Amino acid sequence: MWNLEIIRWYENNKRDLPWRNSKDPFHIWLSEIIMQQTKIEQGLPYYLKFTSKYLSISDLANETEENILKLWQGLGYYSRGRNLLKAANQIVRDFNGIFPQNPKDLIKIIGVGSYSSSAIASIAFEYPIPVVDGNVYRLISRMFEVSTPVPSEKARKVFEEILLKPVQEVTPSLFNQGIMELGSLICTPKNPRCEICPVQLYCGAYKNNTIANFPVKIKKQKAQPLNLNFLQIMLNGEKTYLTKRIEPGIWQGLFEFPNFESNSKMIHKDRIIEELNRITKKIEIISIQKKTQFTHLLTHKKITASYWIINVSEICFLENFSTFETNLDEINKFPVHRLMEKILFE
Ligand code: SF4
Repeated sequence: MWNLEIIRWYENNKRDLPWRNSKDPFHIWLSEIIMQQTKIEQGLPYYLKFTSKYLSISDLANETEENILKLWQGLGYYSRGRNLLKAANQIVRDFNGIFPQNPKDLIKIIGVGSYSSSAIASIAFEYPIPVVDGNVYRLISRMFEVSTPVPSEKARKVFEEILLKPVQEVTPSLFNQGIMELGSLICTPKNPRCEICPVQLYCGAYKNNTIANFPVKIKKQKAQPLNLNFLQIMLNGEKTYLTKRIEPGIWQGLFEFPNFESNSKMIHKDRIIEELNRITKKIEIISIQKKTQFTHLLTHKKITASYWIINVSEICFLENFSTFETNLDEINKFPVHRLMEKILFE
């Protein structure tokens, strides 16, 4: 039985990670949210920071968004940090601070999708439901030579159907974590270690020498170019100004230098002056200097970020353009996104 082989392998080979020693749904939920689209080495310090600062869901619910985002800084996908706070409040308000055990209720929690609801239900509460992540897609598509392109809703259903009986026959938390761990450590995207794989005997792709054909992937959309110009405005060489991004999106709630989009990567200083005049009532410019330009890739965007330093002797912003005055060495008190980190600290 391949499901038992996976559990046996998992118990002898699993990495010792702090959330694996806990059945507390608060810890498991935190680990699932933090580790989404994140490598374990990168997410682990954040998990430790959050669990040492917040001992319960109500502790977290009482926190401010700014402090959560500050703690989240550097991890990316900031909507997860914002949703963490919203979800903590929702659990306190709608579930009396107690995590629901059923995936159908868990999925109602903000930021918890079908993957996370299954993971929390099976790992914390031994609910017999399959968990399908990228590692599972890879391993199962190879074992059963599944040609449905991944990731997609259709593929998730196909893979869940394959996994339903195997998970019901054993301890769900061990099977689900085992299959994800095996995909991560042994059935790797390149050079899978088939010679030591515990399910080699059951693997169709290994037997038929078709490993390179799986998983079949959905074609990725090409990243759209976006040119952003960040303006570090310095008043008398001392004060600078930040704005808070309010539009919905991955950087919502984070602080940044005033910035604007341009059609071209290379713009003239006149375009900077035009933008400064658009956001101020009064400004006395001393100098405009382009400091650096670099490329930053997001899932669907290829950003060319240009960083300008503008020295002014006087500035008064329009009332509807809200800014926060600060000193350069105090910016690290504000939660900022990855692009700002690159500008400021690299
Ligand atoms: S035998 Fe190789 S391809 Fe098949 S599941 Fe194991 S590691 Fe993956």
